[in-house]
Amino acid sequence: MTPRQQEAIKEKIIQELAFLSPKITVLQEISQPISPECALGDLARFELMHEQEVSDKSLREAQIRLKKLQYALRKVDGADYGLCMECEEEISFERLLLLPESSHCIRCASNL
Ligand SMILES: [Zn+2]
Repeated sequence: MTPRQQEAIKEKIIQELAFLSPKITVLQEISQPISPECALGDLARFELMHEQEVSDKSLREAQIRLKKLQYALRKVDGADYGLCMECEEEISFERLLLLPESSHCIRCASNL
């Protein structure tokens, strides 16, 4: 990887982090438990609970991605960044730019 490519990936990680953090805050607000005193009809309550389940799932996914991106940001300058954990080949720049937190090359990732 060239220093320029490394720089591009770093920028991409920072962008993704800037997008994810506010998203997590919003999702955390949505997934607050519904208070039992809340005057809602059964249907509305049911819908709200379903909505919360969906946002709970996105919240967990977003939090996991945030951790991976923060980890990638610390690693991006290191010599072993961008190497596949399985076959130790270089992960393609295109893949890293799309998913900077990738720890496997496309071939190994599809075998997992
Ligand atoms: Zn591999």
